[in-house]
Amino acid sequence: MNIEDLPIRDDLRGRTPYGAPQLDVAVRLNTNENSYPLPDDVVEAIGKAVQAELRDLNRYPDRDAIALRTALADYLGHGLSVAEVWAANGSNEVQQQLLQAFGGPGRTALGFGPSYSMHPLLALGTGTGWIGALRDPDFGLDPGKAVAALDEHDPDLVFLCSPNNPTGTALDPEVITAVLERARGVVVVDEAYTEFARAGTPSALTLVPEHPRLIVTRTMSKAFGFAGGRLGYLAAHAAVVDAVQLVRLPYHLSSLTQAAARAAVAQRDALLATVEAIKVQRDRIVSTLRERGFRVADSDANFVLFEVGGDQRVAWQKLLDRGVLIRDVGLPGWLRVTAGTPAETDAFLEALR
Ligand code: PMP
Repeated sequence: MNIEDLPIRDDLRGRTPYGAPQLDVAVRLNTNENSYPLPDDVVEAIGKAVQAELRDLNRYPDRDAIALRTALADYLGHGLSVAEVWAANGSNEVQQQLLQAFGGPGRTALGFGPSYSMHPLLALGTGTGWIGALRDPDFGLDPGKAVAALDEHDPDLVFLCSPNNPTGTALDPEVITAVLERARGVVVVDEAYTEFARAGTPSALTLVPEHPRLIVTRTMSKAFGFAGGRLGYLAAHAAVVDAVQLVRLPYHLSSLTQAAARAAVAQRDALLATVEAIKVQRDRIVSTLRERGFRVADSDANFVLFEVGGDQRVAWQKLLDRGVLIRDVGLPGWLRVTAGTPAETDAFLEALR
């Protein structure tokens, strides 16, 4: 028996699940993780925090994750309070909750591709119609074109991604403001990679106090090096946080997740210490590839999108054959590589040669 024999929803028939290959190779630069393992003192602090929860695992966790949200609000700054911050198991879950609350059957969400492939998949899973508008050929987004797409489709949610995955492109605040002014529905700015932005690239968080329909999503999976801990969060008007509570599962964040994430946020200086080193490797990949004649997208993230000059599937396989796993995001002619340690950059650049 296979899926097609089941009475599955018609709109899920013939679909494939999200699936970046998880292969056991020496150099894994395909999912934009932080390549640096957690430092020993952070491991110890998280271990103690988790240990302290174990006796009480007979009880449900704090349903509202108040202590963790308070810590995240403090990290974000901008005068945000616990009522304006929400957390879930990864920013994917946060975005799914947003689609459940603001999208759903009979409603639509619009995004500008190429962008993060989970946005349309989360829309599909929640029965929300997906409208795929396009970025400019240089992967930027012109405010006039963005507003024209809204006028044409009038979506219930708009997804903006800045810095954008897979291109690395940060959005001008003017684009976000223009979209906010024209959008009837909520505007989600996915800032999963914001900690890696180059100087002078502001976060959309500054706009939250003025714009009650703006929702900024963040994650601990990238800069914090906490992908395995599964913790994403959002900042928005307190009413948005009230809205997602209507759809979240009760006790969705386990006591262990909350404790580990609280300890990780408390140790943020040690965890975020890798960000500068990763940015150095990112810039080194960009400049080396350009010196070698590749077309490369500017990046404000911890990855680089470059044009391989030919079939990207062939190039991807050849790199894998040399022990370097990067990402084919399905953009003809282009591949994406995560910036990791200096040794990983060496291996990638050598394999590419
Ligand atoms: N947004 C973007 C743009 C991403 O690239 C990712 C991770 N690939 C996520 C959100 C989801 O991250 P997580 O669920 O681990 O927070």
